[in-house]
Amino acid sequence: MRVLVALGGNALLRRGQSPDAAVQRENVSVAVTALARLAENNELIITHGNGPQVGVLALESAGDANLTRPYPLDTIGAETQGMIGYWLLQALQNALPGRQVASVINQTLVSAVDPAFEDPTKFVGQVYERAEAEKLAEEYGWTVKRDGRYWRRVVPSPAPQRVVETRLLRRLVRDGVVTVCAGGGGIPVIRNDRGRLQGVEAVVDKDLTASILAEALEADVFMVLTDVPRVARHFGTPREEEIAHTTPHRLRAEHFPAGSMGPKVEAVCRFVETTGDMAAIGRLDEAEQILRGTAGTVVTPNATWPLASTL
Ligand code: ADP
Ligand code: MG
Repeated sequence: MRVLVALGGNALLRRGQSPDAAVQRENVSVAVTALARLAENNELIITHGNGPQVGVLALESAGDANLTRPYPLDTIGAETQGMIGYWLLQALQNALPGRQVASVINQTLVSAVDPAFEDPTKFVGQVYERAEAEKLAEEYGWTVKRDGRYWRRVVPSPAPQRVVETRLLRRLVRDGVVTVCAGGGGIPVIRNDRGRLQGVEAVVDKDLTASILAEALEADVFMVLTDVPRVARHFGTPREEEIAHTTPHRLRAEHFPAGSMGPKVEAVCRFVETTGDMAAIGRLDEAEQILRGTAGTVVTPNATWPLASTL
């Protein structure tokens, strides 16, 4: 089977951990243990988050006295693809001797007139006191908004339209190459008024990009791997109840938070609706069981989908 997995940002850097390279490489090696088992019997495409890593590099860049202005977000996104892509590349090569592994720097096309550009909503980087935030906004042309007691930079999160390098990725996957790509949702680009690709200051949701890429690469299964075993109803309340198997129709009838489970649910629903294939959300270390349908939240087009006979 052809499987596309979207690896959560916190699989690489758990909440509260120091962002040292050694800490992240240790997490990557744990993640790759699970991924390598999947790669043994399947064609595998791996996408990953970059939220915490973007925060670290943006802060470094903002504090660098040699720079006239901090590196823009598209460039920092590319830096994280290089860094995380390298860690995954090497760990996968070590875990899968004899297999070809590629880590691709790549872009995601968004619409230049996406309404998100008029209404930035995605918080990035550190928090500031109001006066400091307004000074930085003036200096760098940022938009800043209140985030609880503090103020923070916000950037647009436009909808991914297409991974620019889709045809190249298709070739790699067909050749049996384990392919790491679309890190951080892909570097956001628009096609400008002269028809040329141009980076933009935005953050594309990685789960939504993974979903359209899974469709474009004709994956049989799309898996969102994170740190909870299943999607839950009434999450975080005494009535909490894990969902083992569901359909897009039933999942869309529930409400999930925008900053975390919401985009994952949207991403899996969209994939199942457009392809009629299977998607799932669950824990990274249960990836193999999820593929067999015995762990995670498995999403199929209808309730009587013959899971066991197809897998
Ligand atoms: P990732 O880095 O993997 O993208 P996120 O933090 O964005 O992870 O999303 C996963 C988190 O979503 C879980 O750790 C959990 O705290 C939260 N979450 C919110 N709503 C739900 C829900 N209904 N069921 C399960 N987890 C949920
Ligand atoms: Mg997330």
